[in-house]
Amino acid sequence: METIIQAAYFIVAVIFIVGLKQMSSPVTARRGILWAGAAMVTATLVTFLNPQIIDDNQAATNVGLIILAIAIGGGYAWWSGKRVAMTDMPQMIAMYNGMGGGAAAAIAAVELLDATSKASNSSSTIADVMGADIAVLGILGAIIGTISFSGSIIAWAKLDGRLNRSRLLPGQHFINAIIAIVTIGFAVSIYFSAGNLAPIVIFFSLALVLGIFITIPVGGADMPVIISLFNALTGLAVGFEGYVLGNAAMIIAGIVVGSAGSLLTHLMAVAMNRSVANVFFAGVGTETGATGDGGEQGEMKEIQAQDAGILMAFASQVVIIPGYGMAVAQAQHKIWELTQLLDDKGVSIKFAIHPVAGRMPGHMNVLLAEAGVPYDMIYDMEDINADFQTTTVALVIGANDVVNPSAKSDTSSPLYGMPILDAIDSDNVIVIKRGRGAGFSGVENPLFFADNTKMLFGDGQKAASELIQAVKELS
Ligand code: NDP
Repeated sequence: METIIQAAYFIVAVIFIVGLKQMSSPVTARRGILWAGAAMVTATLVTFLNPQIIDDNQAATNVGLIILAIAIGGGYAWWSGKRVAMTDMPQMIAMYNGMGGGAAAAIAAVELLDATSKASNSSSTIADVMGADIAVLGILGAIIGTISFSGSIIAWAKLDGRLNRSRLLPGQHFINAIIAIVTIGFAVSIYFSAGNLAPIVIFFSLALVLGIFITIPVGGADMPVIISLFNALTGLAVGFEGYVLGNAAMIIAGIVVGSAGSLLTHLMAVAMNRSVANVFFAGVGTETGATGDGGEQGEMKEIQAQDAGILMAFASQVVIIPGYGMAVAQAQHKIWELTQLLDDKGVSIKFAIHPVAGRMPGHMNVLLAEAGVPYDMIYDMEDINADFQTTTVALVIGANDVVNPSAKSDTSSPLYGMPILDAIDSDNVIVIKRGRGAGFSGVENPLFFADNTKMLFGDGQKAASELIQAVKELS
């Protein structure tokens, strides 16, 4: 039976990898998710064959409890997944990521508690009972999983707009360092302990607090870095706990998620021109009390859709810059319709994507792919930035932080140092947004007050429809 289980886990792990590979392209992503989902169902079913579950004299209770847990967790996930708005997906992903870390930490807690009772009965240490390697990885997975759990919940609260504070308290890094050192101290003491419950409880509590404390100050536009880091940490914690349980599927899935998350963290950090250590320990991107508004801004100049339509229809090149507001307005289909109309008029059109636009990695690419925008019209920041110098109109729809020039010029701005899309270099900039709302970082944007910028106020979808109408009327 053990061989069948391990073989099944191995096949499941291979399907996870294939599924993940397919998720790397919008064309195959849906199939990749189905493959990974099927693998997860298979891994769950195979687990029911585990002798530790069915050969136990409480087999019926074990199976009943597992089914109850699956029904509660699966039922809630099904219900919430069906009704979640597209704009709330990033929060949901942050929460699920936290649950993964929490599940790994829970496994560690159960194993440590089990080892504690065995150690106290046999007058040995936890390391003796579990084995040195398993104890080390189990405890490491516990720290990482717990930090990822509480940190992801703070990330969820920030993405959901429930927590807007990212100010660094006086001495916060020192306090965090002390908590980290004490947590590691307890981790070591658990390893050598002869079955004491108290250090385990304090250890988990400290790790929970650490996750909260290191995530709260991360602010400005730096959240993508920490979200992807928690993703990597959750994978790592799951892999470690897989080793503790001797579960090959968990080990491989954990490593795959951990390495994909690490790569994403690297890409996000490069996109923000930060090091991960900067985000965590140097307080870049945290509130400084400055709004980054660069002083007196002057007036915003408004434009009507009809005039904006004429400007674009007679342009030689238009670059469209989508941001989070396009996702909120679900304006991608209208924007694609507008693009086709302009294309028919001989206007050269490109889409410029900033790596952290929206609220999750690849957010804009997913929306544009859904609307049918061909990939060869979509350009990454580093490939398009030089083009703004020869662009007639940059159409900014629902983007704010990713086109904020204060990131380049205002050293007091929480955005300072982050590379941006240089829309401001275009002959004309048209910005579609509903009003004077700030971006995610809460920083004022000088682009909106620039001489060459005109504001087309309104909901993204409505404004795009009006532009379509304006261009059609020219025919
Ligand atoms: P921003 O959040 O900076 O700005 C969005 C703008 O859209 C707002 O200023 C808002 O102005 C406007 N808006 C909102 N709703 C609508 C609507 N219905 N129609 C038209 N406009 C609308 O978005 P960006 O994409 O420029 O930047 C993303 C930010 O999110 C960055 O700071 C990034 O670091 C952060 N982030 C990104 C993550 C990722 O993984 N990509 C994860 C977490 C955070 P108004 O209210 O006036 O309409």
